[in-house]
Amino acid sequence: MLPAEIIKKKRAKQGLSFEEIQFFINGYTQGEIPGYQMSALLMAIYFQGMNEQETIDLTQVMLDSGKRVRFNLPALPVDKHSTGGVGDKTSLIIAPLVAACGLPVPMMSGRGLGHTGGTVDKLESIPGFKTDIGLEDFKNLVQNYNLSMIGQTGEICPADKKVYALRDVTATVESLPLICASIMSKKIAEGIKGLVLDVKVGSGAFMKTEEDAQALARGLISIGKAHGVDCRALITNMNQPLGCFVGNALEVHECLAILKNTSCFGLEPSAFADTRELSIELSAQMLVIGQMTKTMDEARKLCEKTLESGQAFEKFNMMCKQQGGNLQALPLPGKAIPVLSEKKGYIQDFNTELVGVAGITLGAGRKL
Ligand code: URA
Repeated sequence: MLPAEIIKKKRAKQGLSFEEIQFFINGYTQGEIPGYQMSALLMAIYFQGMNEQETIDLTQVMLDSGKRVRFNLPALPVDKHSTGGVGDKTSLIIAPLVAACGLPVPMMSGRGLGHTGGTVDKLESIPGFKTDIGLEDFKNLVQNYNLSMIGQTGEICPADKKVYALRDVTATVESLPLICASIMSKKIAEGIKGLVLDVKVGSGAFMKTEEDAQALARGLISIGKAHGVDCRALITNMNQPLGCFVGNALEVHECLAILKNTSCFGLEPSAFADTRELSIELSAQMLVIGQMTKTMDEARKLCEKTLESGQAFEKFNMMCKQQGGNLQALPLPGKAIPVLSEKKGYIQDFNTELVGVAGITLGAGRKL
């Protein structure tokens, strides 16, 4: 097979076979195909797309490039993935909540991307919290406590890691098949049986229209199905930041307020109703997918009861201890500058993306 012939084929909008995709991706990962040819193929995919089967095959090749976690558990391991938003902190509530309800949650998350926040960055705002504990420890924690939250490791989907870095510098990130294969290969490698997708739409999301969000949801679900992972997607509003706080440690404080049902920086628990409601809805979907409950109604009730009993907070606290985090040392804001409205009214519109950018400018993410 010749790399240039494969590039030419895709440039002409023809479908690639599994063998051609495997040859190209493995060749690039192993250093046999140069970056300039991989870049050309990525750009051809960006413009000409990939059909459903090609996307499923690309996911398989990414998956086969690294290790895959396999669990031996009495209950079905489940996870949640969000396509990224501003103030989008639900993972820190959902993972311990679902684990406390009885399902194993092996959660591997990413860092912030663009203007959006990342779960790993939020966890690392807890002093000492280790998100790089290695696959064996990750597996043991899930097997013993139903819960571990870590960052992506080099052992999982190394092909995606290398291709993603190249996409980042060749303006080929925003391609539906490339995004779907990248996200799903890493999620499937976690060893999960069920996945709930929180596909964000609006001014603070990557998908600005409902049509695009639906296409992304459909693409992700079809890959999950082909790989034996039961997936459901919710399309949720990102036209305003989620909850009251944006910024890593502040978002952890908001999650703790919800997990403990306490006030936070003078705000009553009811102030966090949107974060709480979305967390319960996504968690309930996970419980149904993981066959813990039969109906959504039952699942929501179990989530409410587990949150109110403090068991979800206990799970979160336990995970922090196991992974070296000191919750007591969670930083407090050094300064607060109230910006008060000069007249009565209501906010009609948010440029949510700019709120995310402001957070990054203040040090909540990575500028480089
Ligand atoms: N997140 C990923 O892991 N990959 C993408 O391509 C986009 C978002």
